[in-house]
Amino acid sequence: MCIGGHLSVTESLEKKKETLRGIAKDFASGNVDERTYQEKTSALFAEIAELKSRVEQEENLKKQYEVTYTDIIGFPVFVEDKVVGRVSGITVFEGRPALSLAGVTCPRCKALLEENAKFCVECGAAV
Ligand SMILES: [Zn+2]
Repeated sequence: MCIGGHLSVTESLEKKKETLRGIAKDFASGNVDERTYQEKTSALFAEIAELKSRVEQEENLKKQYEVTYTDIIGFPVFVEDKVVGRVSGITVFEGRPALSLAGVTCPRCKALLEENAKFCVECGAAV
């Protein structure tokens, strides 16, 4: 699961690369002069290099966490007194260990469903 609006480092990196491709296209088609192109891309290259090193750091942290917290994979996850899924993996969120949840969500309203639920208690959709 992802918190709304939060971009992961990897997602930010992909966005920067996309912007870079856009600028390269503009330059190639003559919409942007060389000076503007140089200015825009040199800033972007620096940002991309920075993000790449952060992605690398996160990958290393993730490997470390995966080894440290491997025991809790498969643990049930509760919301109040209902099991909604199980820990499916260890990841990194804002530089700290975080858990991935293999939970079942409602196909209609995306609410978390109880494990083995037959229908969604939020919207009534059959599951
Ligand atoms: Zn629903």
